[in-house]
Amino acid sequence: MDFTSKLPHVGTSIFTVMSALAREHNAINLSQGFPDFNCDKKLIELTAGFTSGGFNQYAPMQGALPLREQIAGLIQNCYQAIYHPDSEITITAGATQGIYTSIAAFIRPGDEVIIFEPAYDSYRPAIEVNGGIVKAIALDYPGFTINWATVKKTITHKTRMILINTPHNPSGTTLAENDLKELEKLVAGKNIIVVSDEVYEHMVFDGNAHQSVARYKQLASQSIIVSSFGKTIHATGWKIGYVTAPKAIMEEFRKVHQFLVFSVNHPFQLALADYLKDSSVYLQLHHFYQTKRDYFRQLISCSRFTMEPCTGTYFHLLNYKNISDESDTEFALRLTKEKGLAAIPLSVFSSNKPQNHLLRFCFAKKEETLERAAEILCTL
Ligand code: PMP
Ligand code: GLN
Repeated sequence: MDFTSKLPHVGTSIFTVMSALAREHNAINLSQGFPDFNCDKKLIELTAGFTSGGFNQYAPMQGALPLREQIAGLIQNCYQAIYHPDSEITITAGATQGIYTSIAAFIRPGDEVIIFEPAYDSYRPAIEVNGGIVKAIALDYPGFTINWATVKKTITHKTRMILINTPHNPSGTTLAENDLKELEKLVAGKNIIVVSDEVYEHMVFDGNAHQSVARYKQLASQSIIVSSFGKTIHATGWKIGYVTAPKAIMEEFRKVHQFLVFSVNHPFQLALADYLKDSSVYLQLHHFYQTKRDYFRQLISCSRFTMEPCTGTYFHLLNYKNISDESDTEFALRLTKEKGLAAIPLSVFSSNKPQNHLLRFCFAKKEETLERAAEILCTL
C-alpha cells in the first residue's frame, strides 16, 4: 500500500521504551510516572460494588453525573470557581484524550499552537496530526520559567491555542500567580484558546497553592482545563480524567468527544464519585508526595548528583554534570543496563534536544524502592 505517514517523526514514546528496557534489565523503574504501590482498598471495594451491582452499560456521553457533581465541588472547594456539571464538565479517558480532543475540536490546518519545551510528549503529535503548526518556546533554564516577552513576540494572527502545564512534567516546577496574570493579559480579547494541563493539580509543595486557570476569571473564560484522576488516586491505569470549560467551548469539545470515545468506563466513574466525597483524598495528597520528595532528597544527598528544585508533581530532576559528560540519553541507557536503575533523559521532551545533563526520576514509589534506587545513585 502507498501511504504517507501523518506523523513521520514519531516513534514509540520514551515512557514505553524506558519501562520496557527496565523490565528487560530487571532495573528499578523510576522512569515512567506511576506509583509502585496500590490505590486505596476502599476504591477497589467501591468498584466491585458497582460492577456487581449492574452498572456495566454505557455511561452518559458527558460522564456519570455524580462524578461531574463531585468535580464541580472539587473546583469550587480548591479554586473558588463555578463550573456547571451539565454543560461545563466532561469525563474523558484520561487527560491524554482530553488534550487530544481539545486540539482536534479547535485546531484547523495552518493554525499555530504555542507550547513550552520541555513539553509532555503527547502535545506535539496531537497538534500535528490535526494539521496545526507547533510554535515551541524553550523554558528558560535553570528554573524552567516562561519568558512572557518571548510569548508575546511569538503570538501571530494565526495563533489559535496556547498550551500550558502546571505543575510541570517533566521539570517538576510550577507556575506562579504572576505567570497566570501575564497569560491572562496576553490573550485577553484575542481569539486564542488556552489549554491548561493540570493533571498534577493536587501535588504542589511547600505550602504553595496550585495556580489553576480556574482561579482567573477572564483567563478561564477562554480556557479548557484538563486534569486526570490517575495521579490523584494512585491509579494511572484507570485512565479517567476530566475537562472543564465554559459552555460554548464545551459544546464544541463534546462534538468531537462523542465520536472519539463516546463515553468512559461507567462503574469506575461511579466508584470515583463516591470516593471523592471524602475531600481529604485530594486535599491531603501534597503532604503525601512532599514527604516522598523529601525522603528521596535525603537519601541521595550523599551522591554526586545535584538536585534541581522540585515544587510540584512526582518527578525530580537530577543533574549528573559532576559524574559524566555523556548525553542524557546515553547516560540513562547506561544507568538502566549497567547499574539497574531506569530514569528518563530530559532532552527527549524538547525539539532542540538541549544537553543540560538532566534525568527525570519518578518518586511515586515505596520507601524501599527509593532506598534501593538511592543506593545505586550514591555509588556513581
Ligand atoms: N499530561 C501530563 C503532564 C502528564 O504527565 C500525563 C501523564 N501522566 C498526562 C497528561 C496524561 O494523563 P492520563 O494518563 O490521564 O492520560
Ligand atoms: N505521564 C507519565 C510520565 O510522564 C507517562 C504516561 C505514559 O506512559 N503515556 O511518565
